[in-house]
Amino acid sequence: MNIHEYQAKEILKEYGAPISNGVVIFSKEEIDKKIKALKSKQFVVKAQIHAGGRGKAGGVKLIKDLDNLAEESKKMFGKVLITHQTGVEGKKVKKIYIEEASDILKEFYLSCLIDRESSKIAFISSTEGGMDIEKVASENPKKINTTKVDFKSNIEDDTILKILKPFNLEKDQIIEGKKIITALFKILIEKDASLIEINPLIITKSNKLICLDAKMNFDDNALFRRPEILALRDLDEEEPTEIQASKHDLSYIKLNGSIGCMVNGAGLAMATMDIIKLYGQEPANFLDVGGGASKEKVAAAFKLILSDKNVKGILINIFGGIMRCDVLAQGVVDAAKETNLNVPLVVRLAGTNFEEGKQILNKSGLKILSATDLNDAAKKIVEAVK
Ligand code: ADP
Ligand code: MG
Repeated sequence: MNIHEYQAKEILKEYGAPISNGVVIFSKEEIDKKIKALKSKQFVVKAQIHAGGRGKAGGVKLIKDLDNLAEESKKMFGKVLITHQTGVEGKKVKKIYIEEASDILKEFYLSCLIDRESSKIAFISSTEGGMDIEKVASENPKKINTTKVDFKSNIEDDTILKILKPFNLEKDQIIEGKKIITALFKILIEKDASLIEINPLIITKSNKLICLDAKMNFDDNALFRRPEILALRDLDEEEPTEIQASKHDLSYIKLNGSIGCMVNGAGLAMATMDIIKLYGQEPANFLDVGGGASKEKVAAAFKLILSDKNVKGILINIFGGIMRCDVLAQGVVDAAKETNLNVPLVVRLAGTNFEEGKQILNKSGLKILSATDLNDAAKKIVEAVK
């Protein structure tokens, strides 16, 4: 789960990391009242969306004249920002954050994340802040400093110094730097974050360190024990279909193609998407209904696929192990009747109770194209949507 910059900064503050003063504004009507409390001379109006690259897309605006602040804040609401992380349709700005502007001397990059390969926490620090870190990593890998840290209750001083080394800090700044690294380390562990990124971490012209941007991502599987983090979830920022899917505990990811897929098992779902592409079409979604799904869950999954207006045909590919093909078939028939299915449906069933499953489908009166194997299924659905 992702959270907004303003929420991430609140957590940073709670853990003792330096941030600038700012206010979050949820609607145009609140602007006048909320900016009255601001004391600085220059401000930055920042769009709050779950995507990076806002600066380049017009989502971060420096305001040097207080008289313009209300006007510029109003303009930011409702803007659609297209960044390298939003996709072509972009993201509409529904919340903004107004922050005191800093006089920037240097911009650094700092992040920490779970490194699965080494089972450690990886801190990444680089002098190349404020820009696309993936680009720095590929074009100038020497500029990336990675420090692996054990999962322990504390992070040691010499480890912190290794992380801070590229920044070449002065004595007082090192004290601040230690606070920031310790904060990130503790947040990662105590809040089950999987990624915390400060880009940029800046040195101001008055030699202070400030976390100027903050992105945090949390492990979905740990949210049950972090209610305070779950409370920060912003449904406005999520795909409505994905919200629906999470209610039914389905692994569903919306994609841009036209063939809806219902599959059990993540590996088989990936293979199904691949083979659809091989035959020249694009999948509309990734969907793993999981093992042992009930017919209600199957029905919910089927309705979810159909709620996507881009779907021109559906491919069901089930290899029954724990999942029973008859349960699946009943779920599909129930949902298809409720939704007046009007796109071609190709079904490939194999494994546990597949004969019973086929019988249920045959007797249902639904127009179903039956396939013998995955290859046959992909060919048939691609042909049917042409
Ligand atoms: P994003 O990463 O989404 O583009 P950032 O918060 O990193 O958004 O802002 C982009 C750039 O805008 C920063 O690299 C920095 O140069 C500038 N900026 C952001 N916040 C401030 C601020 N409070 N004061 C001065 N400049 C800022
Ligand atoms: Mg940034």
